[in-house]
Amino acid sequence: MFENYRFTAAERFLRYVQIDTQSDPLSKSSPSTEKQKDLSRILVEELKMIGVNDAHMDEWGYVYATIPSNTEKKVPVICFCAHVDTAPDCSGTGVQPVIHNNYQGQDIALPDDATQVLRMIDYPYLKTQIGNDIITASGKTLLGSDDKAGVAEIMDLANFLMTNKDVKHGGIKILFTPDEEVGRGTEKVDLKKLGANFAYTLDGGDAGSLEDETFSADAVQVIIHGVIAHPGYAKGKMINAMKIAGEILAALPKNRLSPESTEGKRGFMHPVRIDGIAEKCTIDFIIRDFDTKGLQKKEDYLRTQIEELMRLYTKASFEYKVTEQYRNMKEVLLLHPEVVDHAKEAIKRAGLKVKTESIRGGTDGSRLSFIGLPCPNLFAGEQAIHSKLEFISVQDMNKAVETMVHLVTVWHEKS
Ligand SMILES: [Zn+2]
Repeated sequence: MFENYRFTAAERFLRYVQIDTQSDPLSKSSPSTEKQKDLSRILVEELKMIGVNDAHMDEWGYVYATIPSNTEKKVPVICFCAHVDTAPDCSGTGVQPVIHNNYQGQDIALPDDATQVLRMIDYPYLKTQIGNDIITASGKTLLGSDDKAGVAEIMDLANFLMTNKDVKHGGIKILFTPDEEVGRGTEKVDLKKLGANFAYTLDGGDAGSLEDETFSADAVQVIIHGVIAHPGYAKGKMINAMKIAGEILAALPKNRLSPESTEGKRGFMHPVRIDGIAEKCTIDFIIRDFDTKGLQKKEDYLRTQIEELMRLYTKASFEYKVTEQYRNMKEVLLLHPEVVDHAKEAIKRAGLKVKTESIRGGTDGSRLSFIGLPCPNLFAGEQAIHSKLEFISVQDMNKAVETMVHLVTVWHEKS
């Protein structure tokens, strides 16, 4: 299917990463930074050049586009989604991509900073990349493969389908979102307008990997109300809310139920912020578990701990507020097993081994899944993300494109 096709993902990627699209967690506007639209505008233009005529960007910086069905068959409408922004953790200004052709396992020193060296011993995934062409940044910035790899691959998929009309498929929607890295990627998305039945984010790592499970997540806020008095005359009266907060934190389990003591399928409760004065002190926790019932257990446990501690301070009081953040997408995907099954079949047809993974975090897909668009995450090839050593291979990018082409074919076949 791909013998005569010249892939364009890498060539697009090298251009897209040079456009600064860093999002800003402190901004209240949408998108959080206007510069994200610089890339989105280019994507719209390029989609139109390929012949995807309805491509457009809305006021929030979301790009929507349709590749119309070319079959008589009734096939569910599939959306491919990627985010244009890059992480605030590491500079994304002035990215200079460097291609290291035909990688042979050597250390790769990045030209602009001699201390930045990509070594196989630190990144064992490089073992799978011998003979491939590796793209890195130059040492001063991140690369931005998270998620411009996904963006470039979806653009190449559009190019492939528009130039290979003999490949039959149902309606295909393209969605590029801003602000994924600051947790607001789905805030302004219009699912009705998008009109897709199922979606795939292209925002994963190793070739062949497929993520169909995320944490379920709640936030818990504990507000401690102490009793205030003049410190000179406080004997037997004052109850210092900050000291109670300290006791609550000290009473948390040391070797379990924390991010620093868990991995794999184990969840945790994690204080992320404390803010207070003697009179009143607030502790913000995030609670994580793959099982939504496990989330409840952890919340009950934490509340009981605090209640017991507060018995010593009858004049003080506390509030305990739970806010839902997102839910494990698996709960939704189990209702539509074909979404993951077809993806596995497509990965195999691309000649890769399927690696199903659980994400110890959330994705745009977990939110989309629960607002009506079941959405696992497919690999895009990105590695060492959010760092100056970020890398990706041209070959992995092309495999991601092949996988999407197979995926739309499988949907067509099995519908
Ligand atoms: Zn991402």
